[in-house]
Amino acid sequence: MDGEFLEEVSQGLVYETLRTYNRLPFAAWKHYERWNRSLSFFGLTAPITFERYMKILSEGIEKLEGEVRMKVYFSLKSHKVLVVFQPLPRANVEEGVSVKFARYRRIPDLSTPPFLKITGRTDIVLARRDIKDCYDVLIIGASGQLCEGSFSNVFLVKDGVLITPSLESGILDGITRENVIELAKSLDITVEERIVQAWEVFTADEVFLTHTSMGVVPVRKVENRILFEEEAGPITKTLMENFEPFALNRKENWVGAL
Ligand code: PMP
Repeated sequence: MDGEFLEEVSQGLVYETLRTYNRLPFAAWKHYERWNRSLSFFGLTAPITFERYMKILSEGIEKLEGEVRMKVYFSLKSHKVLVVFQPLPRANVEEGVSVKFARYRRIPDLSTPPFLKITGRTDIVLARRDIKDCYDVLIIGASGQLCEGSFSNVFLVKDGVLITPSLESGILDGITRENVIELAKSLDITVEERIVQAWEVFTADEVFLTHTSMGVVPVRKVENRILFEEEAGPITKTLMENFEPFALNRKENWVGAL
C-alpha cells in the first residue's frame, strides 16, 4: 500500500453509494445533494457540477454490463473525486434476513451528525464489525431509541401501521426510506415517523430494512425472535412488490438521468 493512498484514506472520504435501474443511475440528484450536504460539514461543496457527475457516472456504466453499483468518494485530503463501478451485487433476500443489535450506540448528533456520510465513522465501523452472519445490525441511540442499520434504514409494522424512526432519532435520511414512505402513503398505508424504542422491534408484526442496492429487505429474524417462517408479512410483501414500479415512475428519482 503506498503512503499517498494511506494519507488520502486516513483523512476520510465523503461518499455516496448509488445503483442503476435499467442502466440509469437511480436518484442521482438526491445522492448528489446528500454528498454536498456531507461536504458542507467541512465548509466544502462538490468539486464537480451535477452535469459532470452524471457524465462520469454514465461513462462508467457504459463500461460494464447489467446493473451497476457506484461509489462516489471525495477525498478530504486531496479534494479528488474517485468513483468505483462494480456489477450490482445480487443477493436473494426475499426469503428474509437476520439482524441483531449493535453493541455500540449511535454517536450523539452534536458530536457527529447522522447525515454525515464519511468513511471511518466509529459507530458505523464498529457496527459493521458486529454483522458477522447477520445481514445488518441495528444501531440504538443514546436514549435507547432505534436508529438504523449500519447501511440501511429500518421499518416496523404493528397493527397495520408502518412505523419508522423519525429523522430526529439520529438517522441518515435514506433515499429508499423516503421512497418507501411515499409508496406506502400512495397505497393508503398509515405511516408513523417517530421516536421508536428499540424494544418495539420485539413486538412488531413485521420488520424490514431499506437501502439503495436491494430496495426493501424483509427481516425474518431479530436476535432470537423469528418473525416469519415462509413468507414476509403482508405489508412488507406489498411494499416489496410495488417498490420498483413506484421508484421507476417517480419523476424526482430521474432528474438529470433521462
Ligand atoms: N443508513 C446508513 C447509515 C447508510 O449508510 C445507508 C446507505 N446509504 C442507509 C441508511 C440507506 O440509505 P439509502 O436508502 O439512501 O441507500
